[in-house]
Amino acid sequence: MLEVTRVLATTNEVSLKGGNRKWFENKITANVRRALADMPTATVQRPAWRVLIKFSEPVPFHEVARRLGTVFGLAKIMPVSHVGHTTQDLIEALPEHLDGLNPSNFAVRCLRSDKTFPKTSLELEREIGSAVQELSGWPVDLSRPELTIQVLVDQEGFHLWTRKIPGPGGLPSGSGGRGSCMLSGGIDSPVAAYLAMKRGLRLDFIHFHSVPRTDPASLEKTEELARLLARYQGKCRLAMIPLLPIQEKIIADCPPRFRVLLYRRFMLRLGDIFTRKFRSRALITGESLGQVASQTIENLAAVQTIVNLPILRPLISMDKQEIINLGRRIGTFEISIRPHFDCCSFLVPKHPATKATSIDLNEAEAGLDIEGLVRAAVQGSEVIRIDEPADWTEIPLLPELEEWK
Ligand code: ATP
Ligand code: MG
Repeated sequence: MLEVTRVLATTNEVSLKGGNRKWFENKITANVRRALADMPTATVQRPAWRVLIKFSEPVPFHEVARRLGTVFGLAKIMPVSHVGHTTQDLIEALPEHLDGLNPSNFAVRCLRSDKTFPKTSLELEREIGSAVQELSGWPVDLSRPELTIQVLVDQEGFHLWTRKIPGPGGLPSGSGGRGSCMLSGGIDSPVAAYLAMKRGLRLDFIHFHSVPRTDPASLEKTEELARLLARYQGKCRLAMIPLLPIQEKIIADCPPRFRVLLYRRFMLRLGDIFTRKFRSRALITGESLGQVASQTIENLAAVQTIVNLPILRPLISMDKQEIINLGRRIGTFEISIRPHFDCCSFLVPKHPATKATSIDLNEAEAGLDIEGLVRAAVQGSEVIRIDEPADWTEIPLLPELEEWK
């Protein structure tokens, strides 16, 4: 197992943000602190394009990486060693750090953030490179090195590392405003939430249930998904909204082939109300073009005419398998596939329309007391606060970290 006292992480597009850069970097630093709250974190420094974390005692690198893997805005994560203050200190530390490696070639890359340091990066690279060659006999390849020995010189001296893992990328959580995600207990919507959060949106969640006609276990499952997603952003709210009275009315009064699309119109109407309650600016769904009958382009268009707010669909062009793969990587898939007793087949018609128009849907719901139904659903809803995110063990390790355990 690899234990470390220092970890360096580089930031993603953040350096592109010009005047906002400081603000963005402060957000990242705060999010790093939050993710590492249960570890013996001594300091989190934010020099320019990176974050340097120092621990007060050695910690397993894979546990640090698991936590930093939830901090959007981080591009790469590296276990680094502080090896002293002079080039000589660094050269003396080389044998220990290169032990067990056997690359066909290598290169040294040096970053010099202490501009008062008397040698240039190129001079340092040459000096350290020849020391490595003397030690190992490995040839240098500057264009496509198999092993890159990275050195950072800053006010504190020399840092050395040879391995890195990918960070989650994206933009810092909360840097892009607020959104509300329609979270079912299924596979897709939690992945959609993750992708929206990845671009900086801070989310609250909205769930529609048909209890008692469907299994109340689906409520717990949704809450668990929200808890897991909270690991990627922090606290959130989850609105539980009863849809059954609306569904029963639609089943009784409307043409069966439009049923699902009419349920979805009510979900959007209620989603709109809760998006405003949560002071967010967009609704996020897990819809994917053509995945099911209700997600043809015609049906998506016909359903959404009754609301004005932006509807974001991060999964719109993803295949089911791609969605599943991502769900596995972020930890939602395992929760999504937990079986719960499904008794809602009565809600779904045998022959749903695949090419409805908004006029069809307007006519189909013309006889309903839309306002009254929506008002009753809002009154019957409950908002749960998710203050305590899921246990860290529920966030999967990246496959590349297994060998470091
Ligand atoms: P999921 O997409 O989460 O796997 P699903 O495959 O059953 O659910 P649909 O029923 O077609 O998908 O719904 C598409 C999207 O509508 C979902 O991704 C989700 O954003 C939203 N949605 C569907 N049902 C619910 C629900 N009960 N509560 C909240 N949102 C829902
Ligand atoms: Mg789906």
